[in-house]
Amino acid sequence: MTPISFEFYPPKTDEQRAQLDRAAARLATRSPEYVSCTFGAGGSTLSYTAETVRHLNQHHGFDAAPHLSCVGGNREEIRELLKLYRAIGCRRIVALRGDLPSGMGHPGDLRYAAELVELIRAEHGDRFRIEVAAYPETHPQAEDALADLRHFKAKVDAGADAAITQYFYNADAYFRFVDDARRLGVEVPIVPGIMPISNFTQLRRFSEACGAEIPRWITKRMQAFGDDAVAVREFGADVVADLCRQLVAGGAPGLHFYTLNLARPTEAVLQRLA
Ligand code: FAD
Repeated sequence: MTPISFEFYPPKTDEQRAQLDRAAARLATRSPEYVSCTFGAGGSTLSYTAETVRHLNQHHGFDAAPHLSCVGGNREEIRELLKLYRAIGCRRIVALRGDLPSGMGHPGDLRYAAELVELIRAEHGDRFRIEVAAYPETHPQAEDALADLRHFKAKVDAGADAAITQYFYNADAYFRFVDDARRLGVEVPIVPGIMPISNFTQLRRFSEACGAEIPRWITKRMQAFGDDAVAVREFGADVVADLCRQLVAGGAPGLHFYTLNLARPTEAVLQRLA
């Protein structure tokens, strides 16, 4: 069976905490290999990420990996966090550059994720399994697609064990990216990031910001459903399940679901795959 993993974000209110608990409890029955918890650039969720990871480990029995982004932070802050993650028993880290909120000051001591991977390996050896980000449709700030691919390779050369991709709805972009990476000598697993579709308006807005393309035919079909939430959900789950089938059939080594702390959209996809 293809290994799966789930991504959550750190809740900040009691209501959000209850929502995470509900989603985590339901998704735990799917036996994920691990789960991960995002990290807000600029320090806004610094403590929440560690707290959430600890909760996901202790309360839900997951192997939970904190995301750690280096932008805006200094080496000492990063070292402190790594120490904390070691102390609470984390075995994996998702190492990222992150994005500074617009207009927010200094980029910090480390400019790119490759430097963060280097720091973790230099100071913690093989204590953590390190996942990094990859962009089958190219990172929005990259000079060009090939430069982005080389920068991805630099993270692997610095010691990353595996990659999780930005989400996409075009399987060919993923297969091409993996082929190109292999040609450059990158051998680590490249796990597709899967974004189930629940709120299509929100997804479109978010996709523009992170450079993920929603194919025109999906947008057109979604628009035709209008306010029919059930039709949107069913069609979204069919589309994403088809994508997952293609990816797995084509050799994807796992599926990493962006859950947005909701169980239902991810479950709808997994049910179709069963
Ligand atoms: P990098 O790999 O450092 O690349 C960033 C950009 O710089 C790319 O355009 C790259 O081509 C370019 N670049 C890299 N090295 C060089 C170089 N030497 N010279 C010139 N250009 C270079 N964000 C968060 O804030 N919190 C999260 O928890 C989070 N989780 C994520 C999880 C996944 C799986 C993914 C795919 C993304 C996540 N992000 C998260 C978003 C991510 O932080 C942003 O996409 C960010 O803009 C880039 O991070 P990165 O680690 O890919 O950066």
